Amino acid sequence: MTTATQTDFEPVIGLEVHVQLKTRSKMFCRCEVRFGAPANSLTCPVCLGLPGALPTVNRQAIEHGIRIGLALNCQIAHRVKFDRKNYFYPDLPKGYQVSQYDEPLCFDGELQMPIMDASGNPKICRITRAHLEEDAGKSIHMGHSTLVDLNRAGTPLVEIVGGPDLRSPEEAYVYLTTLKRNLSYLGVSDLSMEKGSLRCDANVSVRPRGQEKFGVRSEIKNLNSFRAVRAALEFEIRRHVSVVEGGGKLTQETRLWDEEKLETRSLRSKEEATDYRFFPEPDLTTFDVPRDWVQRVQATLPEMPEKRLLRFLHDFKLNRADAEFLVGDKELADWYEAVLKLYDEPRKVAAWVVVEVNRELQERHLEISQLPVTPERLVELIKLLDAGKLNNITAKEVFKAMAETGEGAMATAKRLGRLIEQDEGEVDRAIEDVITEFKDKAVADYLRGETKVLGFLVGQAMRKLKGKANPKDLGQKLEAALKQKQEPGAQATG
Ligand SMILES: [Zn+2]
Repeated sequence: MTTATQTDFEPVIGLEVHVQLKTRSKMFCRCEVRFGAPANSLTCPVCLGLPGALPTVNRQAIEHGIRIGLALNCQIAHRVKFDRKNYFYPDLPKGYQVSQYDEPLCFDGELQMPIMDASGNPKICRITRAHLEEDAGKSIHMGHSTLVDLNRAGTPLVEIVGGPDLRSPEEAYVYLTTLKRNLSYLGVSDLSMEKGSLRCDANVSVRPRGQEKFGVRSEIKNLNSFRAVRAALEFEIRRHVSVVEGGGKLTQETRLWDEEKLETRSLRSKEEATDYRFFPEPDLTTFDVPRDWVQRVQATLPEMPEKRLLRFLHDFKLNRADAEFLVGDKELADWYEAVLKLYDEPRKVAAWVVVEVNRELQERHLEISQLPVTPERLVELIKLLDAGKLNNITAKEVFKAMAETGEGAMATAKRLGRLIEQDEGEVDRAIEDVITEFKDKAVADYLRGETKVLGFLVGQAMRKLKGKANPKDLGQKLEAALKQKQEPGAQATG
């Protein structure tokens, strides 16, 4: 009964994502932007909000903003205008935040997601706007006192406001992972939720399915991971539905996600824009964004993931899972393509990168740039395997060792004693030994036509050779030796 009524409601979700920009200095002063410096060591009269201090605009921040806007298919405004957003907070020394109100730098964009909508097309989420603003400082609560660190105050941010186009917590999750993936191609931010360089607030409401008008929404804050966003939305949707079904009334409010209790709780009634008393920032004049600047930025954009994915699927004939995995991490996809430049077997290389390389990265908590194995060395290893100097099992073992030491493939294979030396006598002896040892059992079965025991015999011969043989070659040789026994006259068994 409850499930039947629950399906009558449709969630409407829109996400606001704050991206801290990777610039050398802050948005409006020359203070360094750095995470983890001693508290209040990266401050000056401008970012402390001292009387008379005047801001100047960071050009790099504007350019990063344009870059983000173009990557999200936005229009870029013809001029930059900043506004004051007035509110009080202990870590906001000026009593206002410089932001953009009625003229965002970027607007009317969209993000294509790797999931399908109801009509079978890639799901699109509109990007309403992306604007520039400065970050506040940080309040640190210790015992009964609150300390303030203003190192972060004035750090440049871009706030990306997604349209109310997401219809489930899962879609919200996909939106965030896709957005993060695309931003990672731009090199404009660390995109670390732990360090706070990527932050997300979620707006959610529910409405009876088929109804156009939005329900009363709540905004959820304190979301520290994409998983938390999904869990908080699930909780909040259930809460909205139960309030509405119980005949209660929802109020527009801001709620905090409690990661421990897995629930949201009310923080304050949601502010309206008018509460902030926005007005044009009097200390900064507006300035133009020439079209040739926008074009120059456009020309430096890398191939974006949607396009790269299609290329990996069509040109390299990768399966979708492998292609999506590789494209999901720009550095990894670049590394993969660097290997292909040296060894043009896209599917074979993809298998190495997706399985073996990725396993090392996961187990050792490394980024691909930190992996001691270079594309050249992976190719050296694959070629040893191709030449039959290693088999599938020993090649993986050698790779693991290479990932620890950064040594070459040949050197590592020799050091581990895994290199298959072409000692034909040794191989022949092993085959003879196995045939003698199993002549009354497996060999006899084979000669009676039970060819499936060949695998067992190959395994036995491989054991005698301590794995230093190519299983395919060994199988062929063993089969040839067995065929000889089968020839008329040579038939010793019966
Ligand atoms: Zn400063």
